[in-house]
Amino acid sequence: MITSPFDYVKVRSVDEALAALAEHGEDAKLLAGGHSLLPIMKLRLAVPSVLIDIGGIADLSYVRVEGDEVAIGACTRHHELERDDVARAEVPLLPRVASRVGDPQVRHRGTIGGTTAHSDPASDLPTALLALGGTVVLQGPGGRREVPVTDFWTGFFETAMSPDEMVVELRVPRTGSAGWGYEKFTRRENDWPIVAAAAVEGRVALANMAGTVLRATATEEALARGASIAEAAELADQGTSPGADMHADADYRRHLARLLTRRALERAAAA
Ligand SMILES: Cc1cc2nc3c(=O)[nH]c(=O)nc-3n(C[C@H](O)[C@H](O)[C@H](O)COP(=O)(O)OP(=O)(O)OC[C@H]3O[C@@H](n4cnc5c(N)ncnc54)[C@H](O)[C@@H]3O)c2cc1C
Repeated sequence: MITSPFDYVKVRSVDEALAALAEHGEDAKLLAGGHSLLPIMKLRLAVPSVLIDIGGIADLSYVRVEGDEVAIGACTRHHELERDDVARAEVPLLPRVASRVGDPQVRHRGTIGGTTAHSDPASDLPTALLALGGTVVLQGPGGRREVPVTDFWTGFFETAMSPDEMVVELRVPRTGSAGWGYEKFTRRENDWPIVAAAAVEGRVALANMAGTVLRATATEEALARGASIAEAAELADQGTSPGADMHADADYRRHLARLLTRRALERAAAA
């Protein structure tokens, strides 16, 4: 399978990327790691006429502490996050989840900004970001704005980002030594999650249980009322709308959501 023809523009800064987006409009697509975009271009599910390669913007590759938050540049690759000492100390859920994305080849190309912008409900890092409860920093012609992760993913492959904006940074609260858990169910180690659950500080997020990653709010509310982990986890599939495919039907996904939520919460509590 080959893609339809496209022009290629390599940019070296956010300003250059935004200028190229403004010039080429909705026919253009940003290219970061290419590990989600190129597969869908080969399937002709995306047919951009111009690819704007942001993968070489060095200024967008970093992990640093800023006050009570950890700031992560959008072009930080999964394997960089996985090995980053600041991330390991300040927000250990993220490097652990980064280590569970695909295989080494995918982790050496894929970026946190790319997986955030792509809005696939089966994505690992967005699930962790949603459980952490941070913000997505967007930059566009009007400057920068921050969107809470709870408002960012609006549908299957849809986000609150405008076509003339790009993700420049992810910001998450420092959790330090607080317990966390991430449980991912796959048929093979390096597969996408059939279902996954992330838990940290009483918040729980689920992958692949609806059109977007989503919070298990009934579980969170039960925990806040003082319910046991086992009782709260039994509510994890409330408000979800899982699909069915060759890997699992909807009922099995609901079962997995409850089971993985319990395990993630137990792991968080044991830390
Ligand atoms: C074989 C394989 C296995 C995989 N397994 C997993 C897995 O187990 N778990 C998982 O979560 N993911 C998995 N992935 C996906 C992988 O994590 C991707 O790298 C990631 O989803 C997209 O990141 P990217 O940098 O490659 O984005 P790209 O493919 O370059 O871009 C994806 C989309 O985001 C847009 N975009 C990219 N960067 C920005 C930005 N900064 N601002 C605005 N828009 C932007 C692009 O225009 C495009 O629409 C897998 C991919 C492959 C090919």
